[in-house]
Amino acid sequence: MQKIETLASWIEQSDNIVFFGGAGTSTESGIPDFRSAAGLYQTEQHSPYPPEVMLSRSFFVKMPDIFFDFYRSKMLHPDAKPNGCHRLLAKLEAMGKLKAVVTQNIDGLHQKAGSKEVLELHGSVHRNYCMDCRRFFGLEQVMASKHVVPRCPYCQGIIKPDVVLYEEALDQQVLISSMDAITHADLLIVGGTSLTVHPAAELVSYFEGSRSVLLNMDPTPYDRKASLMMNDKIGEVMDQVSGLLGI
Ligand SMILES: [Zn+2]
Repeated sequence: MQKIETLASWIEQSDNIVFFGGAGTSTESGIPDFRSAAGLYQTEQHSPYPPEVMLSRSFFVKMPDIFFDFYRSKMLHPDAKPNGCHRLLAKLEAMGKLKAVVTQNIDGLHQKAGSKEVLELHGSVHRNYCMDCRRFFGLEQVMASKHVVPRCPYCQGIIKPDVVLYEEALDQQVLISSMDAITHADLLIVGGTSLTVHPAAELVSYFEGSRSVLLNMDPTPYDRKASLMMNDKIGEVMDQVSGLLGI
């Protein structure tokens, strides 16, 4: 049987699917991996700062203007649209077959496609809060700001995106919910992640079911453990699966 047909039949037979995804899930929606985007930014702006530095907590505090310049030009993609992967996952959740999407992405595309149970390990560009008064704001507030560094309209505090920067801890509740969902899944679909960024590899190791699928363009440390492996574009594969399932 073709791999795509196998995946479709496994999805058909499952009622506890969990998806674990990374940057590769959104590349077909026109959002580049931030590492390559950061490299581009460094070249264009003659910036001496590598991505791990620009996206760290201490850099944000010391040089919020450079942080936001980079963040605005390379991390925000307000017009990006969900692709076949986001769409199929949302449909499977609505059918009661998929229990959770665990994602390393901060773009909110799963919710845009209609997914409800989305565990965002690294936060979201759609949530932002004032560092002084803790009021929350949407992405619109950041986009509409006249200044590079967005300020709170109530107290003039700096508005920080609710995304996990380097040197910051992950949200423990999101992490625990992710472990729980992966542990109890009967089909785990891993997509668009190299599984090298902590804690991705650890999370995937919680899976106790028998069927796991890995969809990634490049090799990962999980390749030999996966029951089914495909090095294809995830959005296209999921669109084909959607067609086979007639949904
Ligand atoms: Zn405030």
